[in-house]
Amino acid sequence: MTPSFDKVRQLLKLLPGLGHRSAERIALHLLVERPAKLEPLLSALQAAALAVRRCSRCGSLAESDSCEVCLDPKRDAGSICVVEQVPDVMSIERSSAYRGTYHVLHGRLSPINGIGPEELNLATFERRLKDEPITEVVLALGNDIEGEATCHFIRESITAIKPSVKVSRIGFGLPSGSGLTFADPATLRSALEGRRDVGI
Ligand SMILES: [Zn+2]
Repeated sequence: MTPSFDKVRQLLKLLPGLGHRSAERIALHLLVERPAKLEPLLSALQAAALAVRRCSRCGSLAESDSCEVCLDPKRDAGSICVVEQVPDVMSIERSSAYRGTYHVLHGRLSPINGIGPEELNLATFERRLKDEPITEVVLALGNDIEGEATCHFIRESITAIKPSVKVSRIGFGLPSGSGLTFADPATLRSALEGRRDVGI
């Protein structure tokens, strides 16, 4: 071990999904075994850190003010699919079963963890309900207690702002509490096609 190597390993360990051994393997791989891979990775990270931001309309990943979905005129502007995280957008896009727009909350309501409505991307959602020709909202949130609470909150907002909007929910065919990120495209497609009106 050297102090610099150790520092890199410690920082990698802080990343989601990386334990001590994976962090060590990656540090060894980049610094010792295949150092040629390091420079392109550093440049890509530096460029992405400057370019990648949140879409000002839906909160998904973008490299300009709007993301690719929001910029696509072929998407149905009357439909919003609400998800918790950016990877959920990617999962649903892979299923090719949805042609509307998205809204990424960047989390879900969790009073125990101090996450209330202000911590989520909800103010822009309410603005979209008011300003855009929305006729349908698809709630694609987890089936656990926090997902339920978040759905309930959003339904209340819709009732208050635009009660004519049709609200449906997907996720019933998915394992409870699994979230959407790891659902395979076929499962997501059948969940989207079988989405049911939950009313408000
Ligand atoms: Zn967008």
